[in-house]
Amino acid sequence: MIPADFDYLAPTTLDEAVAALAEHGDDAKIIAGGQSLLPVLRMRLNAPEVLIDVGRIEGLRGIRDDGDALVIGATTTHHTVSGDPLVREHAGLIAKAIEHLADAQVRHRGTFGGALSHADPAGDLGAPVLALGAEFLVVGPGGRRTIAADDFFDDFFTTSMADDELLVEVRIPKYTGWGAHYEKFVRVAHQWPIVAVAAAVRTDGGTIAEARVGLTNMDVTPVRARAVEEALVGLPATDEAVRQAAAIAADGTNPPTDLNGDADYRRHLAAVLTRRAVLAAAEV
Ligand SMILES: Cc1cc2nc3c(=O)[nH]c(=O)nc-3n(C[C@H](O)[C@H](O)[C@H](O)COP(=O)(O)OP(=O)(O)OC[C@H]3O[C@@H](n4cnc5c(N)ncnc54)[C@H](O)[C@@H]3O)c2cc1C
Repeated sequence: MIPADFDYLAPTTLDEAVAALAEHGDDAKIIAGGQSLLPVLRMRLNAPEVLIDVGRIEGLRGIRDDGDALVIGATTTHHTVSGDPLVREHAGLIAKAIEHLADAQVRHRGTFGGALSHADPAGDLGAPVLALGAEFLVVGPGGRRTIAADDFFDDFFTTSMADDELLVEVRIPKYTGWGAHYEKFVRVAHQWPIVAVAAAVRTDGGTIAEARVGLTNMDVTPVRARAVEEALVGLPATDEAVRQAAAIAADGTNPPTDLNGDADYRRHLAAVLTRRAVLAAAEV
């Protein structure tokens, strides 16, 4: 199908983008890589009057070292993020998750900020950024504010950003020396997961000293498996010990039922994939 008519704006500064958002309000939609938005427009699931293309704003792109954290600009492509040496060294979980995200073509066009703003519960980036305790810097007519990852994902395809706000960058604390693994269960390659688990683990002499675990597609938002994280601390990184801690992965979640599997099947997957992800992450 062909999208409904829209006006197209391509600001070159953040101030211009914010002014355009303020002027057009919920008649406008930001476009970054267009990998999610264009299909939505073509299917006429949304018909904004104005598209604001943020791809020409220089300050939104790139990755920088900010002391105890990395900062990833919203329009940095998945390809750039996953190949970046700083990301691989200090936030390996992000790089690992992106290796499983879509195909090379989408990873070259799609952006880190676009995927997170889209807030698809089956998206591969939500669980890793949640597990790593990222912070989101957003800007709107009222100025800048920071949103903790725990508060960013609000509901099904919904974030806590207002209609007139845009995502500027994501700040990820460094997890230098931690092991990381993203375990994704799919029926078809290069597709969204039925369930996936993001795990980052710090081991000390074969014992799990700290753990971070996030679940993809186990609820209307990505979920942090805090009970599993707590249960893992102090355990030997062995199959038997991790299996017991991983068994509670689905507790408190509300997984969907769809053609790929029902809620019980997803609960089972969550436990199995958590065990695999944690054990793989522990093999630093
Ligand atoms: C064939 C195919 C396979 C895919 N497979 C996967 C997969 O396996 N796993 C997965 O996780 N994803 C997958 N995707 C989705 C893909 O990751 C996303 O489409 C892409 O990352 C979104 O980024 P974008 O820059 O293209 O966003 P856009 O499509 O431009 O925008 C997406 C949404 O975010 C909003 N937005 C964009 N940037 C900002 C910003 N800076 N501030 C506020 N709002 C913003 C837009 O208004 C829009 O609502 C797939 C997509 C395709 C086409």
